[in-house]
Amino acid sequence: MEDLDRYIRQITFHGLGKEGQRKLLASKVLLVGCGALGSAAAVSMVRSGIGHLTIVDQDIPELVNLHRQFLYDEENMKERIPKAVVAAQKLSRSNSQVKIIPQVAELRPENIERIAQGVHLVIDGTDNLATRYLINDWCVKNNIPWIYGGVIGASGMMMVIEPGKTACLRCLFPEPPAAGSLPSCETEGVLNPAPMLVGALEVIEAIKIIIGSDKVKTGLTNIDLWEHTFSTIAIKRNPHCPTCGKGQFEFLEKKKTDWSTSLCGRNAVQISPAAITQLNLESIRERLQPLGKVSFNGYLLEADLEGLKLILFPDGRAIIQGTTDETKARSLYNRYLGR
Ligand SMILES: [Zn+2]
Repeated sequence: MEDLDRYIRQITFHGLGKEGQRKLLASKVLLVGCGALGSAAAVSMVRSGIGHLTIVDQDIPELVNLHRQFLYDEENMKERIPKAVVAAQKLSRSNSQVKIIPQVAELRPENIERIAQGVHLVIDGTDNLATRYLINDWCVKNNIPWIYGGVIGASGMMMVIEPGKTACLRCLFPEPPAAGSLPSCETEGVLNPAPMLVGALEVIEAIKIIIGSDKVKTGLTNIDLWEHTFSTIAIKRNPHCPTCGKGQFEFLEKKKTDWSTSLCGRNAVQISPAAITQLNLESIRERLQPLGKVSFNGYLLEADLEGLKLILFPDGRAIIQGTTDETKARSLYNRYLGR
């Protein structure tokens, strides 16, 4: 009836057992972002037999990210297939028992309900705070645990957020920092053991939460692999926290925000329109053809325009490569896509 044999080496571990393994197989997890941290977490979760994994990622593999994003290779980079699709294909080869659902999208207020519907746990593999605040709002509102993880340089942090029990992300960071005020992997660099370790910390806590263990680690864990330090500090719930104290879900409700963000380490800007649309990329290809080199591979359209590269997705999202100037990127987007 059930095939637990392949997991015998982990079932034997005293903390898991057959009951624990069955709970893993029945669990539904959402992984938001499948870059360095997401790759590490996804490989570990799928091989562990976490039964259903939805992977949401908006991006494509890039040469400068291959050193730390272990699910992708040079061939994938040339094919320019979205990361979520490549990840699902590769991961299913390691464990065909797991149902993996790729979602090529940016997680947003308008689609989080659809994408996260029915999950038991959310794992953070993103590289930006805007998405993390959105996850935090949705998870606190729906009483779903999530695990925050972040990496920079050779260091990282991890925190389990269990609504009603622990502090939430806004208890820790009440307001988003000003744009450009945080270090990024563009300015600080990243060494790949850091996301591997933070991904591992996320997955071990995910396993404990799913099986209902009393060993779940609360508080904010900080690691610095260069200095070889590892510590966890307690984070108290803030009774005045807008999200978990007052029940205000400002990030979830900011439905009209047009997002543009400079992408970490990419010399590129991402443009996300206020409303998700469904573009006919084939007809856009025909329209742009006379203006520059244009190609369409069934998933995304690429066009060389004015010395910049426009990468356009069917939901209207675009990555403008060759600049970090958001105004310049928006202007190109608006000019060619008639917004
Ligand atoms: Zn809170």
